[in-house]
Amino acid sequence: IGLALSLAACSGGTRGGTTTVDDTAGANKGALVGVAMPTKTSSRWIKDGDAVKASLEKLGYKVDLEYGDDKIPNQVQQISNMLTKGAKVLIIASIDGTALSDQLDQAAKSGVKVIAYDRLINGNKNVDYYTTFDNNEVGVQQATSLLTGLGVLDKDGKDTGKTGPFNVELFAGSPDDNNATFFFNGAMDTLQPYIDKGVVVVKSGQVGFTQVATLRWDPATAQKRMQNLIASTYSDGSKVDGVLSPYDGLSIGIISALTSSGYATDALPIVTGQDAEAASVKSIIAGQQYSTIYKDTRLLGDEAVKMADDLLNGRTPEVNDTTSYDNKVKIVPTYLFPPKVVTKDNYKELLIDTKYYTEADLK
Ligand code: BGC
Repeated sequence: IGLALSLAACSGGTRGGTTTVDDTAGANKGALVGVAMPTKTSSRWIKDGDAVKASLEKLGYKVDLEYGDDKIPNQVQQISNMLTKGAKVLIIASIDGTALSDQLDQAAKSGVKVIAYDRLINGNKNVDYYTTFDNNEVGVQQATSLLTGLGVLDKDGKDTGKTGPFNVELFAGSPDDNNATFFFNGAMDTLQPYIDKGVVVVKSGQVGFTQVATLRWDPATAQKRMQNLIASTYSDGSKVDGVLSPYDGLSIGIISALTSSGYATDALPIVTGQDAEAASVKSIIAGQQYSTIYKDTRLLGDEAVKMADDLLNGRTPEVNDTTSYDNKVKIVPTYLFPPKVVTKDNYKELLIDTKYYTEADLK
């Protein structure tokens, strides 16, 4: 058994044409799975980590769940430690999608499989699978809900003929997170025709991804930028009508900047978001934030665990997208889930009826 175990730790096996983790003598029963999450400052990642850990443990695996506190060296160290402890599969939601190459190379040498979780890891061939929500669609939905909130589109997505012009400001996520450009591009493809017609006006002129990106998705950075925009671009008494925000944490910072600059809480611009975090859903119920995007972390967690379990048992994980996610070295086989827009009108159906939250969570 000792020999089988050490062999299993050193080599990847091949079953049915795909490489899986060697299961010689059932060595993977109760194996250690490393789960690396980016931060605890956003409640979605806590939900993700909890969901992944619980379903791995249900299948009898041991779990090393770590949070990187949004610091790249922490995550690098945590993943190195997981490999030292003998993890057989790594499930990674990266902080910087390009910073893990040494660890991934080391994992490949030891036959350890890597599943990119929610965020793609770029620039390395040893990313075996990826599971996420349709990131381009997230951006489309954010921009569509912004246009709906402004009254440019009706609830069925049809043009109402409203011509505005509406003053809109744009925010994007962290430039080192592969998802951020997907969200932004999906949103801009949707907004561009309205910008071209003059229905939507980005009054600051800041429309490029790098101009509007928010390093590490930091709410304070977004709050500061919104304050600066109000003080510079809107000092002539004009009003902001809408803000494209890619993440609930940023939306909260943006709304704080607006209220502290004199916007009444019942006369805020249309502000979007993402993740259906409890604080933002409460804000939506109170009529402040307009929308968020619901990505059921339970589905994603279960899928990552299913992939890990397949790999550890010589099965080929199922995917439903083999074209969208090129990590600059290869196209990573992906399982995608559909995101959903949440507003005051449907939060009960989407978030409470599905038991994502209880009524009490949103009080
Ligand atoms: C996730 C989003 C999240 C953002 C900030 C992205 O990679 O896909 O759901 O809002 O990170 O945590």
